[in-house]
Amino acid sequence: MIILEDIHKVYLRKNVETTALKGVSLQVDKGDIFGVIGYSGAGKSTLVRLVNYLERPTSGKVIVDGQLLADRSAHELRQIKKDIGMIFQHFNLLESKTIYQNVAMPLILSKKGKKETKERVTELLAFVGLSDKANSYPNELSGGQKQRVGIARALASKPKILLCDEATSALDPQTTQSILDLLKKVNNEYGITIMLITHEMSVIQKVCNKVAVMEEGEIIEQGSVLDVFGHP
Ligand code: ADP
Ligand code: ADP
Repeated sequence: MIILEDIHKVYLRKNVETTALKGVSLQVDKGDIFGVIGYSGAGKSTLVRLVNYLERPTSGKVIVDGQLLADRSAHELRQIKKDIGMIFQHFNLLESKTIYQNVAMPLILSKKGKKETKERVTELLAFVGLSDKANSYPNELSGGQKQRVGIARALASKPKILLCDEATSALDPQTTQSILDLLKKVNNEYGITIMLITHEMSVIQKVCNKVAVMEEGEIIEQGSVLDVFGHP
């Protein structure tokens, strides 16, 4: 589903080069919940941003769903991006829009009809347990509820892949557990492949089947969670 082959990434900012990734290779299979763990600055965020083409590799191959991203036209990339949803640490909701409007946004942008949009948003809000919040605004919601909105919005265009960038790092342990349970349900019920990055071992142990451990731009260990970390 996702293949990264010998990826190097060097950022150049104000004539200063920063090497973020040094020859990273990994494979995420369909149906995986694949965790990437490492300290801040290890290159995790760069890695996920390569998958949805927010960043381009300096060298190496990014292959998503069998397609080499570098070979795709702008039009094809837009299509591929619809297959990839993303959620964020700080949720990235539009504060001036209602919960309904936030979840509907990707459908409105891809010019779906009103009826289809309404059905889809209603279904998604029910799926994440927020049917009663449709007309609320983000600032009326708890952190966990905001992340549920983020998940509903990410699912709106029926992606095959969900990328999670420190999605539970701003949440308390109990809320984290409920969001991880919801991610499991997304994986189970919709068959969506999940790639998540975190600095917390407990997150990996609770939801992931596979893990890559990153340090200073390299993967130092990779495999099933049981093989890498042993039994909890
Ligand atoms: P992590 O997500 O593990 O904290 P990042 O991928 O954010 O790691 O960062 C890896 C390295 O790349 C860090 O040294 C960081 O400062 C650098 N970096 C990340 N993004 C940029 C950027 N847009 N421009 C320059 N350097 C960057
Ligand atoms: P359809 O193609 O009519 O949506 P599916 O069998 O693909 O039928 O999906 C069954 C239900 O699950 C539908 O209500 C659909 O909206 C929902 N669904 C399917 N795939 C996804 C996805 N990737 N994200 C969110 N919901 C999905």
